[in-house]
Amino acid sequence: MTALKQEIAALIAHEGPMTLEHYMSLCLGHPSYGYYMTRDPFGAAGDFVTAPEISQMFGELLGVWASEAWRMAGAPSPARLVELGPGRGTLMSDVLRVARIAPPFLDAISVHLVETSSALRAIQEQTLADAPKPVSWSIDVNDTPPGPAIILANEFFDALPVRHYVKTAQGWRERLVGVDAMGELTFGLSDQVEASLNVPAREGSIIEVGAVAQRIMSEIAARLVREGGALLVIDYGYLETSLGDSLQAVAKHAYVDPLAAPGEADLTTHVDFAALARAARAAGAKVMGPVTQGHFLLQLGIERRAETLMKRATPEQQRAIIDALDRLTGAQDPRRQMGALFKVMAVTHPDMPDMPGFIV
Ligand code: SAH
Repeated sequence: MTALKQEIAALIAHEGPMTLEHYMSLCLGHPSYGYYMTRDPFGAAGDFVTAPEISQMFGELLGVWASEAWRMAGAPSPARLVELGPGRGTLMSDVLRVARIAPPFLDAISVHLVETSSALRAIQEQTLADAPKPVSWSIDVNDTPPGPAIILANEFFDALPVRHYVKTAQGWRERLVGVDAMGELTFGLSDQVEASLNVPAREGSIIEVGAVAQRIMSEIAARLVREGGALLVIDYGYLETSLGDSLQAVAKHAYVDPLAAPGEADLTTHVDFAALARAARAAGAKVMGPVTQGHFLLQLGIERRAETLMKRATPEQQRAIIDALDRLTGAQDPRRQMGALFKVMAVTHPDMPDMPGFIV
């Protein structure tokens, strides 16, 4: 039994079954045993691979997009370049390398990373040791300095905790994590009926509510409306709000039971882009997309970037570039290729013109 499982079982014995949101936030963010707090989960040796770790082309194109967003916002100075959930810091490092060739943008920005994990922050500090601008850290996006902001979030929203509700004969009841007679963690249902959820569905249906993600989106959208700028969200997810449970636990590149080893597996859900777009529009922001990652990267010129890199590459490097291009933009095999499963959405000040990547 993991130390975190013991702690969760003790909490449940004391306070009763906990919401999935509480369970997920302990599994991911517990200060001593949380998944992101204790390890570097990225890359071939870790549990999963993200786009910035596949190829420098991803971060370079986001850097081009960020400097273009800044220019289209009226080239404000000072401005903030913010990243939510920066992982190893690879994306920001690639973005800042591109920014060196756009000096007015680089001169105007200060760089801010929002990260809850001290283990990952230490890796980010190493990766960005030679960054062309000073970098500051906070654990909450609301603690970044005010002013116009360009905000990047790759695979951040999928890591936020969700709630599940199950349709029963009496109505929607919240799914809770409890302990069974053998001492194992198990799913159960709250006695209370959620009268405010009046979504029509058959008995047994599950609805997933990303309340934390929606709150963060509302706060960022309100800031962008007030102060100017743009947020770019890249994540796997679905376009329309739908019924169903997308909770998944991944350890060592394989799916595992989300209750089996809390803190040892990454817990994520598919992002409900329609719900995030509603939250952003309700705050007065403009929403572009979502479009597929393949569409976005091809429109930003990833093929031209690949050709340029190929000219200076060894045959082995050339094969890696072609493979990365296929993984980032391909759409046939969602287990290997990210082009269709991943979506890209921008949230901006209402006066922002339509931006590159989102023209359909
Ligand atoms: N963007 C990176 C990492 C994605 S993993 C990449 O593409 O490689 C999710 C990241 O979000 C990790 O850095 C994790 O520690 C961070 N994170 C998770 N929950 C967070 C929260 N509530 N606030 C800030 N960062 C969080």
